[in-house]
Amino acid sequence: MKNYGHLYPAGKARFEDRGIIKADTLLKEWNGSQVNGFGLVGVPLSRTSISHSGASAAPDSIRRVLASFSTYAVEEDLELCRQTITDLGDIKMHVTDNGVSRQRIEETLTHLLTDHPRMIPLILGGDHAISRPAISAFSRARGKVGVIQFDAHHDLRNLEDGGPSNGTPFRGLLEDGGLDGRRLVQIGIRNFANGKVYRQYAEEQAITVYTMKEVRARSMTHILEESLETLRSHVEHIYVSVDMDVLDQAFAPGCAAIGPGGMDSFTLFEAVEFLGRQGDVTGLDIVEIDPTRDFRDMTSRTAAFVLLTFLKGKRLAGRGSAS
Ligand code: CA
Repeated sequence: MKNYGHLYPAGKARFEDRGIIKADTLLKEWNGSQVNGFGLVGVPLSRTSISHSGASAAPDSIRRVLASFSTYAVEEDLELCRQTITDLGDIKMHVTDNGVSRQRIEETLTHLLTDHPRMIPLILGGDHAISRPAISAFSRARGKVGVIQFDAHHDLRNLEDGGPSNGTPFRGLLEDGGLDGRRLVQIGIRNFANGKVYRQYAEEQAITVYTMKEVRARSMTHILEESLETLRSHVEHIYVSVDMDVLDQAFAPGCAAIGPGGMDSFTLFEAVEFLGRQGDVTGLDIVEIDPTRDFRDMTSRTAAFVLLTFLKGKRLAGRGSAS
């Protein structure tokens, strides 16, 4: 092919600066080989959302906005460019049948996690309904699991009124028997976003709940140390579920359920880094971003920053043994 020098394939002619490595270069398409590190899986499901949601567009959006960031963490003088995230692709959703989609998520993730026992899954939703089959699969493959959920909502709605949705994933897991309340910690639950009956249900089930008031009053590190101590008496693997609506609407305008009184993004990053540093935190999902209603990709960018911060935490934990 003739070379016209400055003519590039569509979308590839962006400004080059050899001093900056873009974070999207961390993503490497899966070639079918064993995955021993981070494995990214998209779960583009949003038909299970109670309110209107275009969360099915989020996996692509988060991958795309990684190009807005560099791989260098200046605060820690840490370069992540040699880190790899194997991009395993997206799980295909059924057009109309949410039950079939749930089954596909659970089966696919169970097989992937069983075949790749050292893989740390980074699962991009989708709405929060994806966490039920994802945690179920994680549990099947890794054993008894503890869950730390960042969320404005308990997500413990009853399954009778509306069926499995993004309001029921943790109720579903408890009713399935795949999780018990002592193995679930909810952080960031806030006012005027939940019903009293679900707070009572959380208490009955011995779920640990930290409201936004407690997040504001105490240090996040202290809350997480306490949470990990609780979980570690029951489990060996911990899965983190980040519902971006835990953030105040000012930080996450692209969530289906935006609202005031939420967490600021720095506190969430602090939490994700702390959890990334823990060797027994071996799975992560990020859910509830609707790129079709976001503003300048703010919420997708924050999600990409969560991913990079989790990677940074893992690298910091291994600093000294890895360069
Ligand atoms: Ca949620």
